[in-house]
Amino acid sequence: MSHQFIDGTWTTGSGGTADVVNPFDASVVDRLDQAGPEDVDRAVAAARAAFDAGPWPRTPTAERAALLHRVADLLQRDKEQIARTETLDTGKTLIESGIDVDDVTNVFRYYADLVAADSGRVVDTGLSHVVSRVVHEPVGVCALITPWNYPLLQLSWKVAPALAAGNTVVIKPSEVTPLTSLKLVELLAEAGAPPGAVNIVLGDGRSVGSPLVAHRDVDLVSFTGGVATGQAIMRAAADTVKRVSLELGGKNPNVVFADTDFDTVVDYALVAVFLHAGQVCSAGARLIVEDSLYDPLVAEVARRAERIRLGNGLDPETESGPLVSEVQRTKIEDYVASAVAEGARLVAGGRRPDDPALAKGFFYRPTVFADCHTGMRVVREETFGPILTVERFRGEEEAVALANGTDYGLAGAVWTNDMATAHRVADALRHGTVWINDYHPYIPGAEWGGMKRSGTGRELGPTGLHEYQETKHVWHNTAPSAQRWFKA
Ligand code: NAD
Repeated sequence: MSHQFIDGTWTTGSGGTADVVNPFDASVVDRLDQAGPEDVDRAVAAARAAFDAGPWPRTPTAERAALLHRVADLLQRDKEQIARTETLDTGKTLIESGIDVDDVTNVFRYYADLVAADSGRVVDTGLSHVVSRVVHEPVGVCALITPWNYPLLQLSWKVAPALAAGNTVVIKPSEVTPLTSLKLVELLAEAGAPPGAVNIVLGDGRSVGSPLVAHRDVDLVSFTGGVATGQAIMRAAADTVKRVSLELGGKNPNVVFADTDFDTVVDYALVAVFLHAGQVCSAGARLIVEDSLYDPLVAEVARRAERIRLGNGLDPETESGPLVSEVQRTKIEDYVASAVAEGARLVAGGRRPDDPALAKGFFYRPTVFADCHTGMRVVREETFGPILTVERFRGEEEAVALANGTDYGLAGAVWTNDMATAHRVADALRHGTVWINDYHPYIPGAEWGGMKRSGTGRELGPTGLHEYQETKHVWHNTAPSAQRWFKA
């Protein structure tokens, strides 16, 4: 077993082993060695040496871009195998996993093209003998720490721009779902990444993530995960003044005005929250509905939620897979109990499925609570599971106040056929992404990230590249002459 990739070589970690579990039936998919403290040190040392004296940061951008395009080709070559692995590891459906591989491919291509066109800029100084250039350089050694819900996708949003910009990286995937991250590292090596440019170490947050964040030789930490972990990382990074980018959780409002098309909004309300069993940072977990539409919408969403077909992600008939782990299911059951205790009205789900074929997996029925309000824990906190809460509003002002009445600010949506209302509400929402009459789409060219406690910094788009770049101003006086500032 050799699952740590350090300085261009697969080596065996000294931190014992850990099983990777299939959430569908709790079977063991793989057993992987874990990094010990010395492996973390070796990985950072390799990335440091590769940054300070290796070829990657000095490789012309066109060649770096060509490598990223090769990775994109390899992702497509191995798409089926990668998608299957992601489904075995996360429980999501094969269709979703396949979409993830395509999206990851597009991210590599986007950053390849963007960096190739990034030549800095010349600033007009007004002085004919002075040339002023603003150039972009890599930041250094980047620690990339990712969660378990979109393992490959979240890693690609970091590793593609980081490498495009000329950084070297140490990857720490989630201990729950590391398999496709290992595969991506294999593909990066196959595409020709030089030794030390890309390293991966496996392990949990305490034994591997934390030492990486504290390490003196790491210059930047890019993290996607929960708020509490993000806060700990921000604190730890302060000691060495690292650059930190945090993509944290969300509690995302889906605001529905009564003039919208009923059947369409029911469909989207369901996919907004129940995609990947609700384990999506931007899940539309709060449905906020105008008074006159409230009762029929609650009834239809509840009816349709009861019909969602749970099953094995590898089965094409499956509409939603299990939760990722027993830990996650226990959290969901706790939220359901608290919602009931606080007076929310259960209209769908609220239990494990009865189907004996699903008994070994970490399944939970899609759950809908009506008559919710922001005083309830289930409305305030990110549950990260298949729970939809429904609130009622009267008038645009109340809709906006409810949608913004959260500590989070990742994403939200507004549904209406009145475009003036749509854009007024979109402008008023304090969330990093706002969809009008849609839910979930994102594109490599448009920034993604959160306001308030949903994080700092942005991924995707040009900003997602700048996160991994230092900006340097070079002033060249082509005709210096003595100025006699101080007397000769
Ligand atoms: P998590 O915070 O528990 O773990 C995320 C990663 O951090 C894992 O790799 C973990 O091992 C590591 N980690 C844990 N403690 C650490 C420490 N002290 N120092 C360094 N690393 C540490 O999150 P999770 O449960 O894996 O993922 C779910 C969370 O991720 C949700 O809150 C979700 O909203 C968020 N998320 C956000 C986005 C986004 O784009 N904003 C995308 C996906 C997931």
